[in-house]
Amino acid sequence: MPDCDLLEKCGFFAKYRDSLNLACRGFIKSYCTGEKMDDCERKRYRQQHGAPPVDEMLPTGQMVPSDYLS
Ligand code: SF4
Repeated sequence: MPDCDLLEKCGFFAKYRDSLNLACRGFIKSYCTGEKMDDCERKRYRQQHGAPPVDEMLPTGQMVPSDYLS
């Protein structure tokens, strides 16, 4: 499975790639480097708005809970 083609540009991935939070790691595994990469709300947002969403938007479209960086 190839990585998401936006991986290098994605603020969410850049900010949370080293997070130890299990939920966050799960999102990265299933979306950014997994089978759900084409179902990513961040990707959809970028296509619709021509600009990336805030880094804290999850691939599901929800916002990252504040404890995700811990
Ligand atoms: S959050 Fe979405 S757009 Fe960003 S790298 Fe992961 S799958 Fe790609």
